Amino acid sequence: MSNEPTHNPKLKSFIDVPQGSHFPIQNIPFGVFVPPSGGSPRVCTAIGDQVADLSVLETNGFFDGAALKGKEVFDKSSLNPFMALGPAARREARSVISKLLSEDEPTLRDNQPLREKIFFNMGDVQMKLPVQIGDYTDFYSSREHATNVGTMFRGKDNALQPNWLHIPVGYHGRSSSVIVSGTDLHRPQGQTKADDAEAPSFTPSRLVDFELEMGFFVGQGNDLGKPLSINSAEDHIFGLALVNDWSARDIQKWEYVPLGPFLAKNFGTSMSPWIITLEALEPFRTSGPTQSDPEPLPYLKSSKPSTYDIHLEVHLKGEEMDSPHRICASNFKYLYWSMAQQLVHHSITGCNMRTGDMLASGTISGPTEDSYGSMLELSWRGSKPLKFPNGEERKFIKDGDTIIMTGWAQGDGYRVGFGECTGKILPCVDLGL
Ligand code: CA
Repeated sequence: MSNEPTHNPKLKSFIDVPQGSHFPIQNIPFGVFVPPSGGSPRVCTAIGDQVADLSVLETNGFFDGAALKGKEVFDKSSLNPFMALGPAARREARSVISKLLSEDEPTLRDNQPLREKIFFNMGDVQMKLPVQIGDYTDFYSSREHATNVGTMFRGKDNALQPNWLHIPVGYHGRSSSVIVSGTDLHRPQGQTKADDAEAPSFTPSRLVDFELEMGFFVGQGNDLGKPLSINSAEDHIFGLALVNDWSARDIQKWEYVPLGPFLAKNFGTSMSPWIITLEALEPFRTSGPTQSDPEPLPYLKSSKPSTYDIHLEVHLKGEEMDSPHRICASNFKYLYWSMAQQLVHHSITGCNMRTGDMLASGTISGPTEDSYGSMLELSWRGSKPLKFPNGEERKFIKDGDTIIMTGWAQGDGYRVGFGECTGKILPCVDLGL
């Protein structure tokens, strides 16, 4: 466990934090919101069911430490200016916020007029995409997921490609269609070709899927030609969010050879509105899977535990269902390749990573059938439909279905949570064809 004072499990806020809340005083997530009265988006944190406007704290001069004084990074429509200041500014902000929110600190607690300017009910505000994402890269870092997909398409003996245990495999994704939780999206249309069809046809995708992922965000980047090193890579990571990499499996199947996924992945990628910092996750640091057969090449070899114990869930709610039903329970720690390894590998050619870049993990599947992070695996390519209490079945996602992802690290009497990443699949747009 860490000795950082902001991690103390006994720490309490004067703001009520309901049991099981994702946002106790130990978390201090960062997001961007618009207050109920409107106005420009600005940076906030969350405590219990409340959102706290950090731009008001900034205007009142509370961020007066060496890294943040005079910086004006919170009255902004994205986290990028704050992220670019690096880990010292983030730790300083956490320390100030933790102190101001604590139950024995009177500054805000006893100043009702100021409190009314700072705190809003979470349900009354509009959360925005928190980061201006320049580049988005999606990895494929779960051995279980890669093995499952490989087994379905190539058979058990050739499930993992020869490079998989040596390289954190990834592809360059599309940042323009990354959307904040709660944004609905239309079923995509595209070229597909059934195995027994002679020619492709243009149809609505019949195999829309979710992918349970987590994304991390680059804080301070690196200059072109100056790769990052494994031991300092984490200093360049601002924090993480839940990510749903929506996928159209039938479009993917027809297009992905030889250059990988393209339109199957670019119609929308949902993310949760709160970025959870590495500092908040530090008490939950743990070791990932052993990497000994083969050992990674030296530039990917890390000397310390490099992942986090984060419980993850996916729930599905169809239009005819009374409530969401859990269809997957997984864990971030199952990932074979760590965030540090992904980031270093990405930059090792000299590729410059920039503030706000999003690097997603790939589908996070675990060892058991109920821990698979996509419908493709849960229904084993449609051969084992999921059954729901109202009698409905699903092989893939139906129009009107909402997918809800959530996740948290369990502390001693508190949770450091990620909130939710939700999205609903609407019917195709009418192209008039
Ligand atoms: Ca993916």
